[in-house]
Amino acid sequence: MEERKVLDKAQQPKATGDMDTEAFRRYGHEVVDWIADYLANVGSYPVLARTAPGDIQRTLPAQPSKQPEAMEDILADIDRIIMPGITHWNSPGFLAYFGITGSGPGILGEMLSGALNVNAMLWRTSPAATELEQVTLDWLRQMLGLPSPLFGVINDSASSGTMYALAAAREAIPGLHIRQQGMSGRPEVPRLRYYASQEAHSSVEKAGIVLGVGQEGLRKIGVDSTFRLDVAQLEQAIEQDFAAGWQPFAVVATVGTTSTTSVDPVPQIADICKRYNLWLHIDGAYGGSAAVDPTMRWVLDGCERADTLIVNPHKWLFTPIDCSVFYTRKPDVVKAAFSLIPEYLRNTESADDAIPNLMDYGTSLGRRFRSLKLWMIMRYFGQEGLAARIHEHIRLGQLVAEWVGESPNFELMAPTPFSTVCFRAHPKGLDDEALLDALNERIMNNINVTGRFFLSHTRLHGKFTIRIAIGNVRTAEQDIRVLWEAIQAELARAHDVQ
Ligand code: PLP
Repeated sequence: MEERKVLDKAQQPKATGDMDTEAFRRYGHEVVDWIADYLANVGSYPVLARTAPGDIQRTLPAQPSKQPEAMEDILADIDRIIMPGITHWNSPGFLAYFGITGSGPGILGEMLSGALNVNAMLWRTSPAATELEQVTLDWLRQMLGLPSPLFGVINDSASSGTMYALAAAREAIPGLHIRQQGMSGRPEVPRLRYYASQEAHSSVEKAGIVLGVGQEGLRKIGVDSTFRLDVAQLEQAIEQDFAAGWQPFAVVATVGTTSTTSVDPVPQIADICKRYNLWLHIDGAYGGSAAVDPTMRWVLDGCERADTLIVNPHKWLFTPIDCSVFYTRKPDVVKAAFSLIPEYLRNTESADDAIPNLMDYGTSLGRRFRSLKLWMIMRYFGQEGLAARIHEHIRLGQLVAEWVGESPNFELMAPTPFSTVCFRAHPKGLDDEALLDALNERIMNNINVTGRFFLSHTRLHGKFTIRIAIGNVRTAEQDIRVLWEAIQAELARAHDVQ
C-alpha cells in the first residue's frame, strides 16, 4: 500500500490541535491562487455542469476517512471530483434564473468571516458583527433612497425574510394572541387571509404553509397585461373576504417578479393597505437592488410606506450567497413575534432596546457575520461603482429586448423593466402553440448543451418563454452578442427561417 502523505505537524500522532500556522499559510496561499485562477478563467468552464445525477456521489468514498488525509490530496479532489459537478453561477454565460456574482471583495469578506467565526446571536457574542450589520444596512438604505429610520437585519434568504414578515403581520392582528395560544382548536379565531399576485414567488405561499395560515390563506390576485398586480381585483377580493368572515391581514407586493420582473403598483397597494389596516410587505429580492442606480429609484416608489421590505444583495449586488436584507419600520412588532430569551442567553444588555440582539428578529439563534462581505463590497465599489454595474446590466437587457423586438422571427413576451428579457422564437407562419413550445424548448436546450451559456425558462399565458437574465458582473456586451447570434442560428437550424 502506498505510504500515506501526512504533512502537517498537527497531523502527527501526538498532536491534538488544529492545522499549524505554517501549514495554514501555505495552503491558504494555494487556495487563494486557485481562486484567482478560477475567477480569471471562469468563462472557459461549461456553465451548466455536465455530470449526470449520482456521478459525484459515486466518485466519493462511501465511508469517512479514519486517518488524517494530506491537504494536497483534499485540494486535488476539488479539481478532480468537485469541479466537474459545479454549475458556474460566476460565469459571464450564466443567464438563467437570476444572475448572481461572487465578487472579489465579497469572496475575501467570506474568507474573513469564516476565519473570525463569530456567532452574532447576542450583541455581546459579537459587538462588531451586530453593529456593522446596523451601519451597513443603514448605508444600503441610503443607497436605495429609503427614508430613516428603518431597522435592518440580514437573513440567509428572502424566503425566510418573507416568512418573518408575515409572522410579524400575524402578530400585529389585534386581539388574537396567536403567538401564545396558536390557531388550532380556537373557534374565535377567524380564518386568516393575505394577498399577493399570481406572479409572486413561491416563498410567499410557503410562508403561509409554515405559519398555519395554509395555502388557502393566500389569495392570489390576477395581473394586468404587464404582469403587475391588478389593484381593483385586490380591493374587490379584500371586500369579499371581509364579507365572508375571513380576517385579511397582509399584502405582499413584488418589485421584480421572478418570471418577468414586473413591478407591482406599490403606491396604490399601500393606499389599500392603509384603508383596510393590512400589513404591507415588499418582496424586492431581485428588483430592489436596482434602486442603487439613481435612474432606477422609481422601482421603490411607495416602499417607504411598507411595514417590511426585502432586498437580496446575493442576487444583484455582487454579494456571494447568502445575504438577504430584511428591513422594517416596525422592529418592535417583529421582535414581539420572535423574541424568546432563555435564562442561559440573558445578560446585562438584553434589557436595553437600544442594543439589538439579532436573534430576536427571526427563528434562527446563531447567525453568520454576513455584513462583513456586504460592507467590503459597498466600500470597494462605492455607490457609483455599484450603480454603474447595475446600469450596464440594464443597458444590456434593453439591447437584447431591442434585438428581439426588431426581429421578425422572435417576440417579446413581457416588458423588460430591468435586465431580464422574456421572449420566444415565433417564426412567420408557425402559429401552433404546441409546436412553438417545442421549438423554443429545443432552442434553449441546444444553447445550454454548448456549455457557453445557461438559460432558463418560464411560462407566460401558458406559452414556453425563454429568459435571459443579466446580473453577473462579468457578463459583457460581447457575451450577449455571441448569445443572440447563437439563438438565431439555433432557430435557423431548428426551423426553416427565411
Ligand atoms: N423573491 C423573488 C422575487 C425571487 O425571485 C426569489 C428567488 O429567485 C426569492 C424571493 C427567493 O429568494 P431566496 O433564494 O433568497 O429565498
